[in-house]
Amino acid sequence: MTAFAATIYRRLVVDDAIWVYASSSAAVLRLDGVSDSVLSAFPPKTGCTIEDGLALASASPHTADIPRGDIESTFRELVGLGLLRPVGEKLPPVATVPPMPYPLTTLVINVTNTCNLSCTYCYEYGEDKLADRERSDGSARRSAMTADTAIESIDFLFRESVGRPEITVTFFGGETLLNWAVIESAVTHARNKGRLENRKVNFSLTTNATLLTDRIIDFLTEHQFGINISIDGEEGDHDRHRKFKSGQGSYEVILPRVKALLAKNKAARGRPIGARVTLTRGTKDVRGLFRHLTEDLGFDEVGLAPVTAAKDRDYAFEPTDYHLLVDAFGSLANDYVDAAVTGKHHGFSNLSDLLRELHTGTNKAHPCGAGLGLLGVSTEGDLGLCHRFVESGEHEIGSIHSGIDNEKRTAFLEAGHISKRVDCHSCFARPICSGGCYHEAYVRTGDASAPNLHACDWIRAWADIGLKSYARIMERNPSWFDRHEVPT
Ligand code: SF4
Ligand code: SF4
Repeated sequence: MTAFAATIYRRLVVDDAIWVYASSSAAVLRLDGVSDSVLSAFPPKTGCTIEDGLALASASPHTADIPRGDIESTFRELVGLGLLRPVGEKLPPVATVPPMPYPLTTLVINVTNTCNLSCTYCYEYGEDKLADRERSDGSARRSAMTADTAIESIDFLFRESVGRPEITVTFFGGETLLNWAVIESAVTHARNKGRLENRKVNFSLTTNATLLTDRIIDFLTEHQFGINISIDGEEGDHDRHRKFKSGQGSYEVILPRVKALLAKNKAARGRPIGARVTLTRGTKDVRGLFRHLTEDLGFDEVGLAPVTAAKDRDYAFEPTDYHLLVDAFGSLANDYVDAAVTGKHHGFSNLSDLLRELHTGTNKAHPCGAGLGLLGVSTEGDLGLCHRFVESGEHEIGSIHSGIDNEKRTAFLEAGHISKRVDCHSCFARPICSGGCYHEAYVRTGDASAPNLHACDWIRAWADIGLKSYARIMERNPSWFDRHEVPT
């Protein structure tokens, strides 16, 4: 007789209601007492027969007055939802890599590999950098991209994104604004080309804001850039790591420029501007930091990223520190839920992203778009998996001149596919994590395709925060999620 077992799921009781997150389908479901009794009657892995499972479920206080036929139909529903499946079921093989050449959507253009700051934790210049500033023959790489290479990069993106009506050009560095003239040329070229081909081109940029001028602000606003400013909070937190080479902190320099940018963008009703905060060991008041950036300075959104670093750095979080992050992210999430149930905006962008993924049933086979729809390009036109891997030798996958090395790209994507990350197979957070950032894995383990197992407790706790927030908003203001519905 076929035995049925529960598949991987996370069960949470949120304000007395039972919610489960089904890892096989990435669905978030509210269960009634009968469904919960039936689901919990079937153990994972070994399972039990339908008869035994339904007998156990029928003995639950939740099913006391429920006819047997209804319990059986609940069982069938749970099977349909993928929460219960036959033990030993053979699933059809999945493709680990889409057919190549897979069209790009985003190109991250590193217009310079130099910076006017010297942040302690920087993955470009700090202790954990991957980039090799010298070629294999010992000659120095070009530090700033030429306008010709930037324009060729744009042409490359158009060529490699055939069939995509909308594409994104992201400028990155080093400090991106050190090579401003090249950005202007590339944007003008991309705009003209987009017009000719009837395709929408979006632009975005990350900057440390030290070099923002009124002219640059006008240009960014006019071209509706998505802008991220690297800023770590109030002066004390910010200046702890974000310093000029002289050792002087950069907060005082960026403050008037950031204010000018935010004011101009608000007046022009531009795209939301984000603060991108790197959290390090020793950041104490994350909620206060968030309020400073949103309420005092006026950022529309704040994204918080725990620093990625090798484990012996004194600013790196260790597994024993993660409860501090959980508390901080949890209290911001509570504020977010309070805002969302009354239909108000809250700028905690980490949670906005996670709620969108939960609502749309995102189920990642790869942790991010690196090597798939997204590639990075170096100052000389070499291609990397993403902006963090350019100039890193072994992770280069062709160039804008010679084209993408699709063999290397395929080999990397196959190695990074969730089916190869065996440690992740029994993890409920798999659909949203899928093993985590390749760059972080490389820094930690020397293997970009390894899962980031040092961070699992944190990832799962963050997933719980997201699921609880999702449940609370769904109970009290479900229409808040309408923004994620795709019109039919
Ligand atoms: S890296 Fe850890 S948290 Fe992420 S999917 Fe794998 S096991 Fe789960
Ligand atoms: S590999 Fe890491 S840094 Fe690169 S795009 Fe993916 S998540 Fe971001």
